[in-house]
Amino acid sequence: MANKRDYYEVLGVDRSASADEIKKAYRKLAVKYHPDKNPDNKEAEAKFKEVAEAYAVLSDPQKRQQYDRFGHSGPGMGGGGFGGFDMGGGFDISDALRQFMEQGFGFGDIFGGGGGGSRRRSASRRGSDLQVKLKLTLEEIASGVTKKIKVKKKIACEECNGTGSAKYSRTISCPVCHGSGELRQVSQSLFGQMVNVTTCHRCHGEGQIIENPCRSCHGEGRVSGTKTIEINVPAGVADGNYIPLHGEGNVGMRGGQPGDLIVHIEEVKHKIFERRGDDVLMVLPLSFPKAAIGNTVEIPTLTGRAKLNIAPGTQSGKILRMRGKGIPHLRSAGVGDQLVQVQVYVPTRLTAAEKQRLSELDQSENFQPQQDGHKSVFEKFKDALNL
Ligand SMILES: [Zn+2]
Ligand SMILES: [Zn+2]
Repeated sequence: MANKRDYYEVLGVDRSASADEIKKAYRKLAVKYHPDKNPDNKEAEAKFKEVAEAYAVLSDPQKRQQYDRFGHSGPGMGGGGFGGFDMGGGFDISDALRQFMEQGFGFGDIFGGGGGGSRRRSASRRGSDLQVKLKLTLEEIASGVTKKIKVKKKIACEECNGTGSAKYSRTISCPVCHGSGELRQVSQSLFGQMVNVTTCHRCHGEGQIIENPCRSCHGEGRVSGTKTIEINVPAGVADGNYIPLHGEGNVGMRGGQPGDLIVHIEEVKHKIFERRGDDVLMVLPLSFPKAAIGNTVEIPTLTGRAKLNIAPGTQSGKILRMRGKGIPHLRSAGVGDQLVQVQVYVPTRLTAAEKQRLSELDQSENFQPQQDGHKSVFEKFKDALNL
């Protein structure tokens, strides 16, 4: 391809120009050569593409640095986001027009000195997905819960109703294709007239464009905001589960499809219960007399208090099962259990009188540890040793 002009020369700025100076120079030249102002002017179109390409490189600090070091043949100068600067194709006119629009340089804006951010938009208008964490207690998980959360996200611009178009402005018929969305190029050939139809670069085939972009959102149709979202969490969810809420992510540009909100479930550690699948386990400290005599105790469950029978002679470490007091299964009918592990408490401080009474009780055969309820451990040892 033909030798390229130096990008700084194209924009008419110094090599030491600031980002702002580069932007101003680009804006001025882009307006001058914009196809809408220069219909059917091939030379202007070429200039417009040239300044757009120069700006695309010089406005990106990384690309500018590479260009400063290596010039047009630098690594990364080809095949970039704009379709290859050094590949012979140069800057496509639709890329150039898109960049112009994305800078917030609608014609209405140019002399107002507004100017949007320099962030490059994706070709698609769909809003992006968002991820949030939702902390839930075991009680909430056991019963299922409706939660309201505030999400920071892109919301539709109220000023323009998400259209990106200024008040009292309208969408107008595209000046390039006159509303057809297509461009027809007629050429003469040996065989007669040839008609080449392409999608209009100005309106991307929609046939309409926004006359004046909205100043609140710079024509994007959306702004940063917060929204309160209600999430219905079914019973039985667990850490690592997620709930996709379709259409609750960032709204799209100019009425484009919204993204999704992905809600990740995070289980808060419980003071009493430990989750084991859909069962929950708790430890129940019990005094030695209560474990020996038997008792009915009131204990907590995920859905309130419940009574639990302790049979006489319950050993420390025994696990009692309370059916259906656990967490509902998420994908099937049924509910897990509550497991209660008995922990017999041995007193650590005793008065002299208490010591005396316990010593007396310890004389009884019934107080000696027994494995099967009949022989004492010591008798078994004697058996094993043949004494
Ligand atoms: Zn707006
Ligand atoms: Zn058009």
